[in-house]
Amino acid sequence: MPSLYKKPITDLKGFGAKRAELFEKLGVHSVGELLNFYPRAYEDWTSVEKIENLQDGGTYCIKAVLGTPVSDARVRGGMILSKASVYDETGAIRLVWFNNRYISQMLVYGGKYFFFGKITIDNYGAQMVSPTFASVAKGAMIHPIYRTTAGLVSKHISMAVEQSLKLLPETVNDPIPGQFRQKYGLCDLKQALYDIHFPKSREALENARKRLVTEELLVLNLGMRSMKEHSRGVSGVQIITDCSAEFETLLPFKLTNAQKRAIADCIADVTQKRAPMNRLIQGDVGSGKTAVAASVCYTVAKNGFQAAFMAPTEILARQHFETFKKLLANTDIRLALLTGSIKDSEKKRVRAALSEGEIDLVIGTHALITDKTEFYNLGLAVTDEQHRFGVAQRAKLLGKGENPHLMVMSATPIPRTLGLIIFGDLDISVIDELPPSRKPVKTVQRGSADRKKIYQFIKSEIAAGRQAYIVCPLIEEGELDGVVSAEEYAAELMLRDFSDIPVAVVHGKTKPDEKERIMADFAANKYSLLVATTVIEVGVDVPNASVMVIENAERFGLSQLHQLRGRVGRGRFQSYCILISDMRNPLTTERLRVMCSTNDGFKIADEDLKMRGPGDFFGERQHGLPQMAIADFADTKSLELSQKIADDILFTYKDLRNDELRLLKAEIDRLFARGGQNTMN
Ligand code: ADP
Ligand code: MG
Repeated sequence: MPSLYKKPITDLKGFGAKRAELFEKLGVHSVGELLNFYPRAYEDWTSVEKIENLQDGGTYCIKAVLGTPVSDARVRGGMILSKASVYDETGAIRLVWFNNRYISQMLVYGGKYFFFGKITIDNYGAQMVSPTFASVAKGAMIHPIYRTTAGLVSKHISMAVEQSLKLLPETVNDPIPGQFRQKYGLCDLKQALYDIHFPKSREALENARKRLVTEELLVLNLGMRSMKEHSRGVSGVQIITDCSAEFETLLPFKLTNAQKRAIADCIADVTQKRAPMNRLIQGDVGSGKTAVAASVCYTVAKNGFQAAFMAPTEILARQHFETFKKLLANTDIRLALLTGSIKDSEKKRVRAALSEGEIDLVIGTHALITDKTEFYNLGLAVTDEQHRFGVAQRAKLLGKGENPHLMVMSATPIPRTLGLIIFGDLDISVIDELPPSRKPVKTVQRGSADRKKIYQFIKSEIAAGRQAYIVCPLIEEGELDGVVSAEEYAAELMLRDFSDIPVAVVHGKTKPDEKERIMADFAANKYSLLVATTVIEVGVDVPNASVMVIENAERFGLSQLHQLRGRVGRGRFQSYCILISDMRNPLTTERLRVMCSTNDGFKIADEDLKMRGPGDFFGERQHGLPQMAIADFADTKSLELSQKIADDILFTYKDLRNDELRLLKAEIDRLFARGGQNTMN
């Protein structure tokens, strides 16, 4: 198997450079990777239906004889229409295909085939449109359907896979040692690869799937553990003095009890335990996680160690920097900002000061984890909005010091089993209380026909001194109409509906410093209305904003909508979230209903997991884990099984260096090389 990861697709017969390029688009770079490119669905051809039983609208597999040669006709617009008629012992139907010149060459008059497709019945009788087919001699099967790309259809992919399977050696060395396969009822790898692509039965498919899912999660599990290995049994940076009470006097507000508890947890970790702190601070948007982190940073800095606070976006890092600057203005804490967009000379200065120990607290983006950044004595690493970071990035930040304490902050609750994999033995503090005087955001769903009224409402809020956001989804090139782009939208608003109101626009192509200026100006109330794509999603704090309008709300994941909504309702004003959508399908309706019915982020994450709509938590790699080829993070049973096997393997072999785990180790390296990182900004 390992050698197949080096074998290019072009080694397959009939697959040249052009097709190999298309495979690249699907993320398939070698024959080995092709074997790991599992079908996204299957057509079950094992249950064959008689022609007399076919119903309008149903999808069937029939076994029939080609009763006429295939005739091609050129119709309107140069389209080719291929027609034929087939029969079995109970009746006959017509078959049609569009624009497929090869049909007539592939089907032989009088030959017996399986045809699979959807039936429509009209006045002329039943017909199957664009059926797929295979000769009966091949035997009925469950046919794989692959994810495709323009120019590469599922059939091509399955042909390539068929050839690749033949390249597998007689006995494939299995990454999972035999004793564990037996113990946990897992079939061997070669069998699994055959059956996941071309299963002979439902049962064979299920067995193959179980084996491959379990392996993938096992590999992930072991990989995550070995990454954490380094912090086990070592002692952390020893903090002597608790300065959290002193820090509290710097705050312009009183901490909530939940915030106090979280701070106390952290202080206990860093002052009393021998091992480094490893703590997740989980609290809904607006629950005040920043103050908790700031307090712990303050204590660590006061004890003579450096603290680093990493945020996922430039905007957020800068905003945190401003907040900290104000808080720490009258203290001796030396504060700095390090992000990708600051001037090179400034970056150089900050980096030099960091490595000389002349900075106590640094706030930044992933610029903090590049090789160029060195610390003098990093004692605490904080990652904000943890789900936006890859595990590798978190590890990298930790590697900047000698066993520094770690705090990760997240608004997104994670199911326990998955949390175990991501964080292992992480301790958790939950901030289950919002600061007082917050009024819950009122959320409604509206259609685009209501837009005028909505604008009227925004204007009335602005007249009362408030500010508003309008968020449009990010649009990819060549996407369909009916979706609103931020720039066009804003241009139209400025010209027409809001000509007398200062409007700003932020979108994906806005330059970082420009974005920065606009956000700062918006925070300073120089603009009343901000039109944006989801760049404002994470953490930005403008307490005066009271209206959040989300266009094409159906295009956002629930957790994302919740994050966006969290941008308002941060001050003492009643705030509103208006979800605009014209989609009427049941899933969308249900998702938006959930948003309107609760402000509880935990409930929403739960629903998100259940419904799994577009851009959801698990779908969009919002967890920092490597992308899975077949496993599903919502599949608790498999997660638990893999956990158990991982325990068993480590118990048996002590660690991964044992030669019998050589292949498993290689798989771990491969999975993590695929990347567990989210793109930032
Ligand atoms: P999040 O948990 O989403 O990161 P933030 O830390 O950004 O939330 O806090 C949201 C807002 O609430 C900020 O404006 C912050 O100053 C304010 N805040 C935090 N804690 C309190 C508190 N105990 N009382 C009043 N306001 C608070
Ligand atoms: Mg925050």
